[in-house]
Amino acid sequence: MQQYLPEILLSPPRPDELEISLFGPGRGECVVAHLGNNKWLIVDSCLAKGNSEPVALQYFNRLNIDPYDAVKRIIISHWHDDHIKGISTIVKHCPAAYVYFPQALQQEEFFTLLTSFHSIDSRAGSVPVNLADFVRAEDLTSGLSEIARIVSHAYQQESVHRYKRKIKYADDSTIIYEDRGNSPRVGVRSLSPSGKMVNNALLYFAGLIPPSTQRGVIPYPEKNDASIAIWIEFNNIFVLLGGDLEDSTDHDLGWLAVLHGPNPPQGGKASIFKVPHHGSANGHNDQVWRHQLLPQVHAILTPFYGSSNPPPTHSDLKRMIALTEHVSFTAPPRIPKKKYDDHVVRKMLSGTVTERRTLVGQMGHIQIRTRDGERFTVGYDGPAALVTSDFLKEYEWLSR
Ligand SMILES: [Zn+2]
Repeated sequence: MQQYLPEILLSPPRPDELEISLFGPGRGECVVAHLGNNKWLIVDSCLAKGNSEPVALQYFNRLNIDPYDAVKRIIISHWHDDHIKGISTIVKHCPAAYVYFPQALQQEEFFTLLTSFHSIDSRAGSVPVNLADFVRAEDLTSGLSEIARIVSHAYQQESVHRYKRKIKYADDSTIIYEDRGNSPRVGVRSLSPSGKMVNNALLYFAGLIPPSTQRGVIPYPEKNDASIAIWIEFNNIFVLLGGDLEDSTDHDLGWLAVLHGPNPPQGGKASIFKVPHHGSANGHNDQVWRHQLLPQVHAILTPFYGSSNPPPTHSDLKRMIALTEHVSFTAPPRIPKKKYDDHVVRKMLSGTVTERRTLVGQMGHIQIRTRDGERFTVGYDGPAALVTSDFLKEYEWLSR
């Protein structure tokens, strides 16, 4: 049973209530999850336009919850800009949280890549000595500088022992959080990256490291093979957060490695699914939908404005709607401007697309709460909405 609300609930969830909140302004993604008893998980971070406070911290403020002790885990699914803006601010404000990076970012290759954009010393395999210096280097992409900020902050503030305790790395079978003695029984674990994905990422990092004569220019990272996907158990309710994990025909990579690896998701099928890679076809895997998700799963996604064919496309949405009625986006896919601006065309539209387009650029928020896995309350804020057949029809027509 579903209850759809035109707004989000601003009372905190009950101690026995699961919440999954997905935020995104059009480019950017953040998940905030309530794991029961005011214990919270944050996955990735994004900012609203013109605002330097991460949306996750703003949300805690609106709920009147102090994140200082309440946030127990922070996961950085991968290092791309659209998943990482403001994450170092979150880490600073949530000192009780362990911070998880994908396994590949622990390795020497990644630190060499970090340090190679500034002429400083690095000690192989350990934290660079002058990391704080190069955090200020303007030539870093923000993804890299956010990571450098977190590492250098942890390194400066804590002894080496404490630093090791606070920053952790996740691969395809890391237990990130567990509270099985209490009610609700909760477990959070990572399903990726696989060993081969980590290796590929390291080769990729090595390829990005410029020769010492040409330091200072960093290419934008294109690949996201090493993304963390997450499986949450909450009593008998299951959630799959797909990160930006892509599909592959290789059983040792992407979703096939998750399904056929040594630690596939267990216990039941998910009733909430954060669709991987912004709903694009390269994140889609039929077996995941068939074997790991309930037939009427709540599929939630953020779009990605900025590429030439920005996901989700009309065919991406159509594919998902054929699999479940409950597909929601935090912001509409990019709606072509040319036709939309035509006065005659606007008159013909029923309003579902028009209504959404006026909100583009604002932060969208999908909030899902459930206590039993049977009844779900779904609330929307900003341009976030359920994908209806009317919306799809208009969007198809506008996309042609
Ligand atoms: Zn992304």
